[in-house]
Amino acid sequence: MLTIRCIGHTCFYQISDIVRLFTGIIPTEKDGCILSDVPYSATIESISEGPRVVTRLVEGFPELSPEDRSIETVPELPVSREVKRQLYILLSKMLEVHYPWGSLTGIRPTQVAGEVEKAEDLSRIYNVREDKAELAFLTHQEEERILSDSKEESLHIYIGIPFCPSRCAYCSFVAQEAPKKRDLLPSYVDAVLSELDLVLPNITHPIETLYIGGGTPTVLDEALFERFITGVFSHPELKDVKEVTVEAGRPDTITEAKLQTLRKAGITRICINPQTLCDATLLRVGRKHTAKDFEDAFQLARKMGFAVINTDLIAGLPKETPEEFCDSLSRIIELGPENITVHSLSKKRRSDLSREEIVMLQKEDLSKMEKMLTFASSVLSKAGYVPYYLYKQKDTLGGHENVGYQKGNTGCLYNVAMMGDKRSVLSFGAGGMSKRIFPSDGQVRIERCPCVKEPTQYIRSIEEIAQKKIRFFE
Ligand code: SF4
Repeated sequence: MLTIRCIGHTCFYQISDIVRLFTGIIPTEKDGCILSDVPYSATIESISEGPRVVTRLVEGFPELSPEDRSIETVPELPVSREVKRQLYILLSKMLEVHYPWGSLTGIRPTQVAGEVEKAEDLSRIYNVREDKAELAFLTHQEEERILSDSKEESLHIYIGIPFCPSRCAYCSFVAQEAPKKRDLLPSYVDAVLSELDLVLPNITHPIETLYIGGGTPTVLDEALFERFITGVFSHPELKDVKEVTVEAGRPDTITEAKLQTLRKAGITRICINPQTLCDATLLRVGRKHTAKDFEDAFQLARKMGFAVINTDLIAGLPKETPEEFCDSLSRIIELGPENITVHSLSKKRRSDLSREEIVMLQKEDLSKMEKMLTFASSVLSKAGYVPYYLYKQKDTLGGHENVGYQKGNTGCLYNVAMMGDKRSVLSFGAGGMSKRIFPSDGQVRIERCPCVKEPTQYIRSIEEIAQKKIRFFE
């Protein structure tokens, strides 16, 4: 059991975040202590006392020297960040693991990059590794540049089609398998179009972007897809948005007729996502397409005049080697998409392993993932791609980053606005999360309005859902 006694402060959330980083487990809080059920025993005191913050290992890990067992500072950071920072340093020493993002456990390190003067400050204050500090700093600058063209009060629309041809083994979305729900798809499309009919005329915010995602919107058959896209763009409120993106995620759902439907609607930005170009991995993770299917779909989209194509890749897919990942990325760069997004997939929850096994696996994982992410950032930079948005994952060992890269000024404003919590988002469809951003005096307040996840319930409750969203955006 790992016990952390909080004395003189109540920064339980911050302490829990660091414990989650090292253990992959959400700890519990009881009587001022944070408790984590790990296979080793240690007691730590985290003390805030006047101007001092102290973090002390009082029991366990006898091999640690007295100097390494205690950290004491008069902090330049607020207490909540200092207790995190100190606990990070102490646990790194105890468990002999250092994470590339140091004590920055939040999912938006580029926000913290905006608070410091230079990249080195992130390393000095938060123990962020030098290359990641540079990455966060550079990405923050690019995010700001992209947002400078967007009004603060603007609204960004998301429409979700939560169905896919099959379910990927690693999927964490609400997507359902379309072949099992064939009969439901037309009613679902009708429900989304009704929701747009009911809500959009009541919206007064300027709408800047539209993102049609999922699931996989192109899983709809050609006729239904055409009805859906034509229905969406029959709304005058969506005619003049400055950016429209459609996820044509799974290459096996793309046909010339569906791409034609998108082109007729004036859409020039799509995502075609192979995740890997290794056929063995594609089979292993349950994606029913090959690398060739992706290459064919990409060439077809290019031929049909899509000006911005994004492709997603995942580092760390089950049993995939760094060499296979690097080969996929190199082949994708050769195709020349305008945007490449590199996601990280980390293994979660190690509660049933011994301390030695945790340390060994963390090191193995980190070094494999490091090889892939370092290769990605270097080869993409050499090929002229620049990072333009970045977020991290919670509850994964290591908390690796996902980074969107762009060539030229082709970055997706919707991604920057939505992932950075910079602008309000109005979501349509089952499982969508609408959010309103209220910036005031440098502090941002966020209100959220979730939608039911189950498509049948969504279809049944469309009136009620629409009224709730209208009130939310009043
Ligand atoms: S394509 Fe995306 S949304 Fe669909 S099952 Fe795979 S990971 Fe989930």
